[in-house]
Amino acid sequence: MSEEFVQPLLQWYRANKRILPWRDKNNAYYTWVSEIMLQQTRVEAVKPYFTRFVTELPDVNALAECPEEKLLKLWEGLGYYSRVRNMQQAAIQMKEKYDSRLPEDYSLLLSLKGIGSYTAGAIASIAYGIPVPAVDGNVLRVMTRITENPEDIMKPSLRKKIEQEILEIIPKDCPGDFNQAMMELGAVVCVPNGQPKCEECPVQNFCMAGLHKTTEKYPVKAPKKPRNIENRTVFVIRDGESTAIRKRPSKGLLAGLYELPNTEGHLSREEALKYAESMNLEPLYIQELPQAKHIFSHIEWRMTGYLIRVSSLEQTDARGILFAKKKESEQKYAIPSAFGAYVRYMKEEIK
Ligand code: SF4
Repeated sequence: MSEEFVQPLLQWYRANKRILPWRDKNNAYYTWVSEIMLQQTRVEAVKPYFTRFVTELPDVNALAECPEEKLLKLWEGLGYYSRVRNMQQAAIQMKEKYDSRLPEDYSLLLSLKGIGSYTAGAIASIAYGIPVPAVDGNVLRVMTRITENPEDIMKPSLRKKIEQEILEIIPKDCPGDFNQAMMELGAVVCVPNGQPKCEECPVQNFCMAGLHKTTEKYPVKAPKKPRNIENRTVFVIRDGESTAIRKRPSKGLLAGLYELPNTEGHLSREEALKYAESMNLEPLYIQELPQAKHIFSHIEWRMTGYLIRVSSLEQTDARGILFAKKKESEQKYAIPSAFGAYVRYMKEEIK
């Protein structure tokens, strides 16, 4: 692995880096929040979430003390809610042990809840100038192309090997810039799915796949297992004032979040009415809603829905049902985007 590409890479980064709300702020908390948000979400989508989050919760103490409902509401739409729950646990650890700061030590960062080698490396190098690698999916892709590495990109052993290779070349005086340059190169030049822009690439002369015109072969990915398909029926059950929602169990998919009542299978109109009656409700009106799909990492929900107007939600004897007023559904309860196609019927006028 050649060290020679470090300088051209850094020069390119310093001349071309994107301006981002968390970049060049010298704030470890900002680096942490942004890196966790970016794990499953695109940069453009993260920007407004990041700004809102750090305005509401500007430091470790504010995050540690934030009520759960508010925390989940701030995360609503980003998905993978365990990320923000883990962040709060880590913030509590920092409050108790590290004077409410992110520790300036790679191993201590790694010991915090929800912080793995990538995030610890990003915080340590970007915020504290510690020369450790930060290997995310972008960096894995760039490195497997540069070295024409034929191993499966999902293998933990490949990540370890690449971390070791980077450790050997990372510049001691600007490790944060180097790591960000690698990520930036992967995000805007050495792009996934399709053609990397090799003619614009600052490290083209050091890249084996670029030189051999074999970029389409890298990274190597083992075929994914197919997702499980689950059919579900979602209910928007309303009286004049409110919509029925309930809290999901504290473990498993979308743990502890609020949801519209739903059940397995695609129910017919008659079955849907029976469902409402089984909750001891009196249906006055039913409307079939458009079908929708939501993809989780291992499961795909294929949903159908019904809007059911009932005389009074308060008659229900179903356990765990809450009555959300129009405003509350926007401001108080975090309903995950899996139900996004049906949430708007909580507010629409019934004709
Ligand atoms: Fe990626 Fe092409 Fe640059 Fe190689 S030359 S790192 S494949 S963009």
